[in-house]
Amino acid sequence: MAKNSLAIKNLHASVEGREILKGIDLEVEKGTVHAIMGPNGSGKSTLASTLLGRSGYAATKGDVLADGKSILGMPTDKIARMGVFLSMQSPAEIGGVSFSSFLRVAHAAMTGREKPLGALEFSKLLDAEMEKMGMDKSFASRYVNEGFSGGEKKRAEILQLGLFRPKYAILDETDSGLDVDALKVVAQGINRSKGPHMGVLVITHYNRILKYLKPDFVHILVNGKIVKSGGAKLAEEIEEGGYSKYC
Ligand code: ADP
Ligand code: MG
Repeated sequence: MAKNSLAIKNLHASVEGREILKGIDLEVEKGTVHAIMGPNGSGKSTLASTLLGRSGYAATKGDVLADGKSILGMPTDKIARMGVFLSMQSPAEIGGVSFSSFLRVAHAAMTGREKPLGALEFSKLLDAEMEKMGMDKSFASRYVNEGFSGGEKKRAEILQLGLFRPKYAILDETDSGLDVDALKVVAQGINRSKGPHMGVLVITHYNRILKYLKPDFVHILVNGKIVKSGGAKLAEEIEEGGYSKYC
């Protein structure tokens, strides 16, 4: 069981010397969708950053195991190569690097190839994924995220799920700022990639994306701790009543 999960064990983490995560226990098994909801500043993005070993986010206690192997303290690229994918709340812009060359190199790393696929072969693959995400082909030659609208950045993130097929996908507010149509495209993209080979941890404020994703578990994070866990119904309760009864 434990070998097929992303297991977060009593994780404490600090940012700039301040403890933000105060003991998180959560196990995301392959084939399941977990959602984390919580008020602003409760530590959701800090959890995502700590899991991926982002600099400045120091795990001070506990452990994180991907398929039974500790990933805490590993460099981010190694964590990614182990199949842990993070869609960041604010994806970075990378000037001077085209979206297609970035994806081609990342695709090789994420799928364990020694060399990237040939340009033509990869471009066919990318075209197909872009079409599924409703992205124009011209995005392939643009610089990574530069000048992309909020919704385009999020589509570009979910496109990577389809291309890389990670074992664990952590999606930090991938739904925020999306209009109804973009939300649907993004949710369908996640659903297409979902399956017994992948565990999903989706961080969100809104039940609207969860209506599409149908999470198996919903957790409420307040002040660096999971204060309540339940099923999809818990997200509906939060939508109606907010977080006040948990704060
Ligand atoms: P959420 O994603 O739940 O809204 P965050 O994890 O972004 O919350 O933030 C939790 C707390 O950690 C906040 O008080 C925030 O100011 C602090 N924090 C997060 N990242 C940093 C950072 N890089 N530098 C300083 N403080 C940070
Ligand atoms: Mg956040």
